[in-house]
Amino acid sequence: MDKRTTSHSLPEAPREFGFWMDGGWHGGREMFERASPGHGVAVTRIPKCTVADLDAAVAAARRAFEDRSWAGLSGAERAGVLLRAADILRRRRDEIAYWEVLENGKPIAQARGEIDHCIACFEVGAGAARLLHGDSFNSLGDSLFGMVLREPVGVVGLITPWNFPFLILCERVPFILASGCTMVVKPSEVTSATTLILAEVLAEAGLPKGVYNVVTGSGRTIGQALTEHPDVDMLSFTGSTAVGRSVVHAAADSNFKKLGLELGGKNPIIVFADADLEDAADGAAFGISFNTGQCCVSSSRLIVDHRVAAEFEAILAEKMKKIVVGDPLDENTQVGAITTDAQNETILSYIAKGKAEGAKLLTGGGALDQGRGSYIAPTLFSGVTPAMSIGRDEIFGPVLSSFSFSTTEEAIALANDTVYGLAASVWTKNIDTALNVSRRVRAGRFWVNCIMAGGPEMPLGGFKQSGWGREAGTYGVEEYTQVKSVHIDTGKRNHWIK
Ligand code: NAP
Repeated sequence: MDKRTTSHSLPEAPREFGFWMDGGWHGGREMFERASPGHGVAVTRIPKCTVADLDAAVAAARRAFEDRSWAGLSGAERAGVLLRAADILRRRRDEIAYWEVLENGKPIAQARGEIDHCIACFEVGAGAARLLHGDSFNSLGDSLFGMVLREPVGVVGLITPWNFPFLILCERVPFILASGCTMVVKPSEVTSATTLILAEVLAEAGLPKGVYNVVTGSGRTIGQALTEHPDVDMLSFTGSTAVGRSVVHAAADSNFKKLGLELGGKNPIIVFADADLEDAADGAAFGISFNTGQCCVSSSRLIVDHRVAAEFEAILAEKMKKIVVGDPLDENTQVGAITTDAQNETILSYIAKGKAEGAKLLTGGGALDQGRGSYIAPTLFSGVTPAMSIGRDEIFGPVLSSFSFSTTEEAIALANDTVYGLAASVWTKNIDTALNVSRRVRAGRFWVNCIMAGGPEMPLGGFKQSGWGREAGTYGVEEYTQVKSVHIDTGKRNHWIK
C-alpha cells in the first residue's frame, strides 16, 4: 500500500485501495474508478462498500470504544500517538499531497501547504488531549461536592466532502481522537484516497485497532446509512446545506445521535474606502479563487464602499486576470481544475445566469481550454443586487459578485442578508469600524484586513444555516464529549424517612 510518489508525472496505472476496518485492509468489492479532474486519466480505484461493511465497521468502532483500549488511555498517551502521526505525516507530506492533487485537481503547491496545516492539526490535537478536563463545584454547601466530567461521546460517524478531502478530515480526526472517541469515516466517493492513507499513518503511529475505520462508497448509500445508524453516537457532517438537512432528519428518525454540521456559505468581504485597496484587492482575488472557489469560506460577495467601488473593481479585475490557472501538477499553478463535471456545469450555469440577470461581467466569465480537464477563469461580476441568484446562492466556484454600499449600516445589512453565516472579512484602517463590523456580522469566522488566516487552535463553524457546533482547538475536542454531573455527599445524610 505504501507507494511513495513524489514525482509530478501521472501514475502509470490507477492505484488500487482497499477499505480500512478493525486495523486492517479489506477488499474484494466492486470498484469505483476515479479520473484526475486536471488530466482526465484514471488515477485511483476505490471499493464500493456495502451497508453490511458499514455495519461491521461500526461494530469494530463500538468494540474499540467499549474495550477502553483508547478511551481508557491517559491524555498524555493519546497525545503520544497524535504526535507520532504528525511526524509520519511530515515524512509522507509530498506523497499525500500528490494523491490529493490527482483526485481533487488542486495545485500541488497548495496541497503541500494543506498537509502542513494537517500536521499542525495533529500537534494541536495532542495538546488538546492533554488539556481536556472537566470542572468542579465547591459551592454546593459543606455536605455536597460536585464534579463535572467530560466523557467521550462514543462512536463517531464522520462524513467529509471532496473540496478539501485531507484538510477537513484532519481538522476533525485529531480532535475526535483526543476526546477518546472511536470513528467510522465516509469520505466523498470521488476523493477517498488520502482518507485511506491516513489509516496507514495512524496504525504506524500506534492507534489501537478499530479506533479509526474508513468505509468508502457513495453518499446516497454509505453516507445515508451512517447518518441513520442506530449504533453511532455522534455524526460530524461537512458538506452542503441540503444534505445537512437530510442528516438532521435521519438523526431524529434513528437514535437522536448528536450532530456537528459544517455547511455552506455565501461569505461577505467588506471593503471600506479607507482600506489599502491594493491589499484588499489581493485578498479578494485570493478569497474567491483559492481552491477554484470550491471552498466553504470563499469570499464570494464583495461589498465595497460606493466612493471607491469603480476604482477597486478595476484593480481587482486586473489582479484576477493575472492568476495562473492550469495543470494542478505544475508548481507555478495558482488555480487548478474544477473537481467534478457536475460542479463544473453548476458554476458555468451560474455564470450564464449572472449575464442573463443583468450583472456586468468585468473579467473571466467562462471555461478555459487547457486541452484536457475542466478549468474556469476567475470571474468578477459588478452591479449585483441581492435579488440576483449569483448574489444569493452558494456557487462554489471562482465567481465573485460585487455589491456597493453607502453607509456602514448598509454594509452590515448586506453582509447579513443571507441564510448562511460561515465567514466574513472587513478591510479598513479604522479600528472602530473593524471592531463594530466584526461584532455585528453574523458569521463563525471573521477576518480583519486578511482572509482565510488562522490555525487549528481557533474554532471553526457557522452561524445560521451554515451549521451547528465547532471543530478544532479545545472547542473542537469538547464537541466530541458529553458532560456528566457527579454529586458526592460528603457529610452525614439528612434522612428522608423520619
Ligand atoms: P455534499 O453533496 O453535501 O456531500 C458531502 C458529503 O456527504 C460527501 O461525502 C457525500 O458523499 C456525502 N453525502 C451525499 N449525500 C448524502 C446523504 N444523503 N447522506 C449522507 N451523506 C451524503 O457536498 P459536496 O458537494 O461534497 O461539498 C460541497 C458543499 O460542502 C458546499 O456546500 C460547501 O459549502 C460545503 N462545505 C462546507 C464546509 C464547512 O466547513 N462548512 C467545508 C467544505 C465544504 P459522495 O460525495 O460520495 O456522494
